[in-house]
Amino acid sequence: MTHCLICGGTRFRRYAPDFYKLEDQHYGLSECTGCGFVFVQPWPTAEQIAGMYSGNYHQECFDSGLSDGGYFENERKLLRRYEEVVHRIERRGGSGRLLDVGCAGGLLLSVAREHGFRPEGVEICPEMAQQAREHSGCPVHTGTVESVGLDEGAYDVVFMGHVLEHVTDPHRMLRAARRALSDDGLLAVEVPSFINSFYYRGLRAFYRIAPVKPLPMFKIVPAGKHLKPYHLLEFTPKTLRMLLGQEAFTIVGKHHAIPMPDCVLGVPKTLTGWLLKPAFMILHLLTKVGFRGGSFTLFARKTKDK
Ligand SMILES: [Zn+2]
Repeated sequence: MTHCLICGGTRFRRYAPDFYKLEDQHYGLSECTGCGFVFVQPWPTAEQIAGMYSGNYHQECFDSGLSDGGYFENERKLLRRYEEVVHRIERRGGSGRLLDVGCAGGLLLSVAREHGFRPEGVEICPEMAQQAREHSGCPVHTGTVESVGLDEGAYDVVFMGHVLEHVTDPHRMLRAARRALSDDGLLAVEVPSFINSFYYRGLRAFYRIAPVKPLPMFKIVPAGKHLKPYHLLEFTPKTLRMLLGQEAFTIVGKHHAIPMPDCVLGVPKTLTGWLLKPAFMILHLLTKVGFRGGSFTLFARKTKDK
C-alpha cells in the first residue's frame, strides 16, 4: 500500500514485524504516521486473499483462527454474543428490515427474527449461505454486499460484524451498505481493536520475556508459528470514525466490548482459565467506562444532505 486508505498519507512506520505468515511469506503490520491506521504489509495479492478463504474457513479457521472449533460448535457463545448485539441495535432505535453482512451460518439472523426484525443475510461462502438459510429460515444472498444487487434504500438496519477488517476496499463496502440503507436507517459496524489496545502491547512484551505457554487466542502464537493475515486492516475508533465520515455517515454511538475467551467462561476448567478470569473481569469493567477492549462498534446514520 502506497497511500493510507484513511488519510491518504504516505509515511508509515513498522508496527509489528513478521506478525502473520502465509505460504512461506511473512507479513508485518505498518502504521500510518498521519492518522494511526494499521494495516498488513506487504499487501497480499487477490489470489492469496481468496486462497485463505477457500476450503471451509468458517469451520476450520472460525474467528480468524482465534477460537477452538467451527462456527456451529461455538453456537451457544455466538447466540449470547448476538443477543447483546441485537439489544444494542434496538437501544439505538433499530427495527424492521435488518441486513447482516457476512452472516456466516445465520445465527444472528435467528436472534434478530426472535426480536421482531425482518432479517436477511449476505454471505460470500456458498456453503455457509445455504446453512444460514436452513438454520434461520431467512433470505440469504450469496456474494458480497457490493455484488448481490440489494434493493436501494430497503433496509432499516445494516450490521457488519467483524467483516470490514477483512476487505481490501472498505470504502467500496461502506458505499454499498449506504446504498442499501433507508434514509433514516442505522449502520452498526463492529471490528476488532485488540492489536491496537494497550494491554495487547503489554501482553506481547510480557510474552517475549516470559517462558510461559503461548496463547493463540490472544494472537500470541508459539515461536515459529504464525496466524494467516486474515485481518488486513486494524481500526481504532478514530480511524473508523474518519472512514465513516468520508462515506457520508454521522456517528450516533459507540460501544466497546471484550470478548471473553472460552477458558474464563463460567467456572474455569483449567489453571489458565483461573489465572485469566480476574484479569478479564477487570478488562470487562474497563470497557464499560470507555476503555478499548477486544472489539468496538460504531453506530452511524446517513449524513443528511444540506
Ligand atoms: Zn493515515
